[in-house]
Amino acid sequence: MLQQLNPKNKDIKVYVNGALLHRDDAKISVFDSVVQGGDAVWEGIRVYDGRIFHLDHHLERLQNSAHALDFKAVPTNEIITKAIFDTLEANGMSDGVHIRLTLTRVEKITSGMDPRLNQYGCGLIVLAEWKPPVYPPSITLATSSGRRNSPRHLDSKIHHNNLLNNILAKIEANYAGADAGLMLDSEGYISEANGVNVFCIRKGKVLTPYADFCLPGITRRTILELCQQHGIPAEERRLSLTDFYTADEVFTTGTMGELTRVAVIDGREIINKHGSSVLEQVAGYFRALTETSGTPIPAF
Ligand code: PMP
Repeated sequence: MLQQLNPKNKDIKVYVNGALLHRDDAKISVFDSVVQGGDAVWEGIRVYDGRIFHLDHHLERLQNSAHALDFKAVPTNEIITKAIFDTLEANGMSDGVHIRLTLTRVEKITSGMDPRLNQYGCGLIVLAEWKPPVYPPSITLATSSGRRNSPRHLDSKIHHNNLLNNILAKIEANYAGADAGLMLDSEGYISEANGVNVFCIRKGKVLTPYADFCLPGITRRTILELCQQHGIPAEERRLSLTDFYTADEVFTTGTMGELTRVAVIDGREIINKHGSSVLEQVAGYFRALTETSGTPIPAF
C-alpha cells in the first residue's frame, strides 16, 4: 500500500545538524557522506502516548552501527535524546508519531569515498512525522530474485542507509503486484522482507530465521522476548519457503508496521489449518507493551 502525504505533515519542523527547520528548508549538503555513498546509519522509532518505545534499544543499535562503520565524534545518547525531545516539542507531537533518526558522517572536504575526507564529526537528522499505526489487515509477499546481503559481504547488524539491496527487492515486489519483497539468504533460506522481519507459526510454534542475513529488528527481538515471557514456544532457525507457504500463520514485524499478517506469498495462500490464534495473542501482548512502557517525553 503506497503511503500518501498526511496533510498534518505539511509544515513539520525537522532537526538537521542542530537547527529545527521547516521541512521545505530541511536540507543537507551535497558534500554529506549520505549523498556521496549512502554512508550513514539510521533508526526508525515510534512514539506512543507520550512515550518513546524502546528508545534505549534503538540508541544502542545506532551507536553500534556507527562504531562498526568507524564514525568519529558520535553524539552521545544524551545529545541525541535531547534532539529528539526538542523536535517532538517543536511539532507538538506526543502520540501517533514515527521518527526517522539519521546519523551521517556529515560533510566531506571534497568529493570522494575516503572517510578521512569527513573532518567535521557527525551529522544528526531527526525527522518526526505523524504516522499513526494504521495498517491493512494483511499484506502479500513476493520472493525476490536477488539475495539479501550476506555477512560475507555486508554485515546486516549494521543498520546503514545503503539500502539498494532491499530497494531492488521492493521494486520486484511492486512489479509482481505484492506489498513487499521476501528476501532469501545465499543458500535459499528465508532471511526477511525488504523492510521488515518475518515470522511464521507452525502448529502453535513461533518461528523466525536466525539474524545472520536479516537486520536484527527490535520488534523481532521484542516478539521473541514476549513469547518467552508468556510461555509461547518460539525459536530462531533456518526456514525455507515451503515452511512459510505451509505455515498456519505468517506475519512481519517492524517499528513502522508493528505486526502485520501475511495472507499470500508468491500466490500461495497461507491457510490456517490448525485454527491458530497465536498471532492475535502475540499482537495483544505487543500492544500492551507499547501502552505501558517507553521513555517518557518531558511535558511541553
Ligand atoms: N529489516 C529491515 C531491512 C529494516 O529496515 C527494518 C526497519 N528498520 C526492520 C527489518 C525492522 O526492524 P525494527 O523492528 O527494529 O524496526
